[in-house]
Amino acid sequence: FSEYHQYIVDENAMCHFGQQLIKHIDSLNTLNGVVLYLNGELGAGKTTLSRGMIQGLGYHGNVKSPTYTLVEEYHLANKTIYHFDLYRLSDPEELEFMGIRDYFAHNTICLLEWAEKGQGLLPPPDLFINITYAQEARDIQLIANSSQGEQIIQRLKQ
Ligand code: ADP
Ligand code: MG
Repeated sequence: FSEYHQYIVDENAMCHFGQQLIKHIDSLNTLNGVVLYLNGELGAGKTTLSRGMIQGLGYHGNVKSPTYTLVEEYHLANKTIYHFDLYRLSDPEELEFMGIRDYFAHNTICLLEWAEKGQGLLPPPDLFINITYAQEARDIQLIANSSQGEQIIQRLKQ
């Protein structure tokens, strides 16, 4: 599977990368939902990247971290983004109560922070996005995990 790497100098660059990435995702001509797992330590920039993606699809309000709500939703022109943070999930059964399957529908983009907490109850991602510290900067690595993920990486490389 293909990979894509980028060095991200600061918070602004992380938002900008999110804006580019979501435009490539939005331009896929598919009805399938898109699922991204965002991996990285606390403070790595998962929420910052999510904010860039959400604002990049035309949302102009405040993007809150879904730390306490588990999920925040953004209904945009032609797509819905669900932004999850499962860090505080104590029991995977909570996901069943939320009706987790219904989130992964047509025309949705699901961004998942701490997806490992929901292991076994989540669909596999189209992309793994791994963010690591490089002092004040960050390294971001995208790994395709489906043909849709491959298409997104090919678009980033163009
Ligand atoms: P996470 O969701 O992974 O816990 P956040 O996005 O909430 O992380 O926080 C990242 C923090 O790191 C923010 O305070 C942001 O200003 C800071 N930061 C510093 N450099 C960067 C960078 N290159 N990319 C992203 N965030 C950065
Ligand atoms: Mg976060």
